[in-house]
Amino acid sequence: MDFTFTEEQVMLRDMVKKFTEKEIKPIAAEIDDKGSIPRELIDKMAELGFLGIAFPEEYGGSGFGEMGYCIMQDEISRGCASTATFIGAHHSIGSTGIYLFGTEEQKQKYLVPLARGEKIGAFALTEPEAGSDAVRIRTIAKDVGDHYTLNGRKIWITNGSLADIITVLARVEIEGKNYGVGAFIIETEWDGFKVGKIENKMGIKGSETAELIFEDMTIPKENVLGRMGRGILHSMDILDVGRLGLGAATLGSAKECIDLSVKFAKERVQFGQRIANFEAIQWMLSEMASDVYAMENMVYRTAWLCDQGKKFSREAAIVKLFCSEALDRVVDKALQIHGGMGYMHEYPIERMYRDSRINRIFEGTNEIQKLVIARDVLKRNGY
Ligand SMILES: Cc1cc2nc3c(=O)[nH]c(=O)nc-3n(C[C@H](O)[C@H](O)[C@H](O)COP(=O)(O)OP(=O)(O)OC[C@H]3O[C@@H](n4cnc5c(N)ncnc54)[C@H](O)[C@@H]3O)c2cc1C
Repeated sequence: MDFTFTEEQVMLRDMVKKFTEKEIKPIAAEIDDKGSIPRELIDKMAELGFLGIAFPEEYGGSGFGEMGYCIMQDEISRGCASTATFIGAHHSIGSTGIYLFGTEEQKQKYLVPLARGEKIGAFALTEPEAGSDAVRIRTIAKDVGDHYTLNGRKIWITNGSLADIITVLARVEIEGKNYGVGAFIIETEWDGFKVGKIENKMGIKGSETAELIFEDMTIPKENVLGRMGRGILHSMDILDVGRLGLGAATLGSAKECIDLSVKFAKERVQFGQRIANFEAIQWMLSEMASDVYAMENMVYRTAWLCDQGKKFSREAAIVKLFCSEALDRVVDKALQIHGGMGYMHEYPIERMYRDSRINRIFEGTNEIQKLVIARDVLKRNGY
């Protein structure tokens, strides 16, 4: 077993760390207050290859695999969870489907500009009546001979208002018959696409969350992604990658919580001494460090599994479940260590506390992760 990063991975980590310190951390509060990520930041990340970090170079990527993606998100999320969420929606769930299931033509046409960051991606599954119960989607793609016509509405789509290319899941109807759910690659420039409500959220405010409306949109047949009728199964594979990436982002935020808490505890004096001297504070720090150690191990081991081409659905669900709950524990303790200061908007912990909560909800709620894990546990034990 070798638990060390390669020289290239270390270089990548150092480069993203420097970038985060210089370009992201100083504007993280502004991203939160303004509710959007500046285009210049997106362009800079594109230039450095961040927006296609995992994909092979032949498809416009940087060739670092999921391990590289996790290393990057681990650093980016130290600076800004909204920016990490933007990247997650664009790269992990917005582009991975095309990489995994796209034809060579689709990869050249869509994955290459996505990976280069020339186009922005998103993934649209959720609808008002179909959250956890994804098979209930009503958006419908009707086969009308030489193309499909798409009608319906998606809600809460990250990057929905910014995206150029979206992987959309829709019920498929051919000659009046239901063909299950299909995945489609759509371009937001096409007629019949409209952005609806932009959500005002509790946290990750800089990550835009939008309603998408499709009205008689024409989708060419060559834009069907993967196998017709297997859209939900394809989504599950895409979400495995998304859940792993989410774990990496929670890991970086948790590490930042420790750094900020240590800094504060070393400076803040009460009862004539630094609060870092109090055992109560030390216990919180040691519990935070223990959570981070567990998160780090499971994130990078699962990234390794993914890069080996092994099945990792159960592990991705465990990463998502454990890391999102661990970050909530860590950020809560970080706020407690900061006392009243942690509750003030001018301190990053206040933002990080709000940003953390979404991780237990999106990419499949934690209750759904428990279902996925339990099913696998039972199956492996002959049930
Ligand atoms: C900020 C944000 C960004 C998002 N980005 C995207 C995106 O980019 N693309 C996209 O497609 N979607 C996106 N989503 C949607 C997200 O994936 C869903 O919110 C999530 O899947 C849960 O669906 P729901 O909110 O409808 O909750 P519901 O499914 O209505 O669940 C409500 C509660 O019931 C529980 N529950 C439901 N079913 C079961 C069950 N069988 N057993 C036990 N408990 C159950 C849930 O765990 C939850 O606690 C986003 C959501 C948010 C809030």
